[in-house]
Amino acid sequence: MDDRTFRNAMGKFATGVTIITTSVNNHVHGMTANAFMSVSLNPKLVLISIGEKANMNQRIKESGKFGVSILTKDQQEMSMYFAGQLKEQREIDFDWIQGIPVVPNSIANIACNVNASYQAGDHTLYIGEVTDISVKDGDPLTFFEGKYRNLVNL
Ligand code: FAD
Ligand code: NAD
Repeated sequence: MDDRTFRNAMGKFATGVTIITTSVNNHVHGMTANAFMSVSLNPKLVLISIGEKANMNQRIKESGKFGVSILTKDQQEMSMYFAGQLKEQREIDFDWIQGIPVVPNSIANIACNVNASYQAGDHTLYIGEVTDISVKDGDPLTFFEGKYRNLVNL
């Protein structure tokens, strides 16, 4: 099976969009990710999947912590920026919860300590134990068939 067939199929699974963040020696790093899921209620666990070539991979290994910011429909540019799809370099002001940077104005900010990690093919799965959460109202940014979409109320 070729890669395009796989990506086309996975792209049929509509998702929200997150920015994963972490900090090593006071240097913040952010990366766009849609491979995010809720795992367990007791204890409260979430999962992210980070490509082996992503700079984020090494940073999370070093910090042992990460933040997940679930983006609103107004943060598409932020998603493109943290996916390395915009040319310019920007100065980003982060909020902090539990010593973990998160993206302001997101619909949810989740602070996690790494509970376990598993290498899975060309990605590493990080299970995060949730230590704090903040939630706001707002419509999510969504991603379907490789494109950003608006959630439509039926
Ligand atoms: P880099 O390329 O190093 O950084 C990304 C950009 O953010 C760069 O421009 C960098 O300068 C900037 N940046 C980082 N930190 C800061 C800061 N503190 N201040 C200012 N600028 C900063 N990849 C996955 O592995 N898993 C996924 O689940 C995933 N989902 C994706 C979903 C979508 C919708 C998209 C568009 C991409 C997704 N990707 C995913 C791909 C991933 O976002 C990119 O490959 C990313 O560039 C790789 O991360 P990196 O850590 O190497 O980031
Ligand atoms: P796309 O058509 O490549 O992605 C559609 C779907 O395929 C994604 O939602 C994801 O589920 C899956 N996918 C894509 N690349 C993957 C990878 N390297 N490993 C595992 N699953 C992957 O969408 P696009 O707009 O071309 O994506 C933009 C860029 O972001 C591409 O370079 C893509 O590889 C990357 N991306 C990576 C992941 C990931 O690593 N999990 C997820 C989404 C996008």
